[in-house]
Amino acid sequence: MHVFYADHFILPLPAGHRFPMAKYGRLRERLAVECPQVRLGQALPASDGELALVHAPAYIQAVQAGTLSAAAQREIGFPWSPAMAERARRSVGATIQACRAAMSGEGLAANIAGGTHHSYADKGSGFCVFNDAAVAARLMQAEHARQQRARGPLKVAIVDLDVHQGNGTARIFAGDESVFTLSLHGEKNFPFRKEPSDLDVELPDGTADVAYLEALERALDELERRFEPGLVIYLAGADPHEGDRLGRLKLTFDGLEARDRRVMDWAWQRRLPLAFAMAGGYGTDMEVTVQVQMNTYRVALQYHARWTAATRGGERAAVTAA
Ligand SMILES: [Zn+2]
Repeated sequence: MHVFYADHFILPLPAGHRFPMAKYGRLRERLAVECPQVRLGQALPASDGELALVHAPAYIQAVQAGTLSAAAQREIGFPWSPAMAERARRSVGATIQACRAAMSGEGLAANIAGGTHHSYADKGSGFCVFNDAAVAARLMQAEHARQQRARGPLKVAIVDLDVHQGNGTARIFAGDESVFTLSLHGEKNFPFRKEPSDLDVELPDGTADVAYLEALERALDELERRFEPGLVIYLAGADPHEGDRLGRLKLTFDGLEARDRRVMDWAWQRRLPLAFAMAGGYGTDMEVTVQVQMNTYRVALQYHARWTAATRGGERAAVTAA
């Protein structure tokens, strides 16, 4: 399974900054050691043209040139630096590459970071500079239109299970029937002004495994009734975990693993390619966040193996038939 990373671009953050930047490197390290089936690849930077499928050219330029206002940098939550701009591009690139890999018959692939869903077309927010899932969705639609126009437009479901609402993504795709935005999130959590997604599920503080999984089941049912995707982009946030500093929910390791399995199984049953990004995770103990994410990869590898077996089986059947 292909997994793309850009964590070697280190953001210079002030001492005591609350963003756990080290979690990405730690996750990559553990994947390399514990999951030999994972093929780690360095993410390429998204181009201006790719970013402009979603983002305003003036905003792209301000991020590149370092001319974001102090207020804009505060809203993003990271001070501008050349590494910040480069990393933001590569994080989008990682989701693009994961989508391409998933759609080229692999079935599943991942971005080791990404899930930057608070980013709007013309501004960043909440540790999000560019919106990786939104740019990747638009680019996959463009590539699909070029290669397979006869099959109709590619429809993309963005399943956002980070504990925070996917406000930027919701706004970017508002009124767009080709992308379905689903967000399950804490009702009392950031962002405090939420944007309407195609389907929002608000969860009270303290929501635990059973209630969460029931809500997810209902949400997937409704998604299926209203939309027929050709690609799923999954934001597998680790921040609904009970050990998270910012999450306010009470999911256990088992509950989150069941969540990941449900989403990946849902996609597999429908043979929908799925690209996933890690989104948020702010464990009081960083290792807890990384463990939640490792569990996501373990589940993903099981479904990736099914895709591989099905593809091989399909090839064999085709050869026999010929
Ligand atoms: Zn989050």
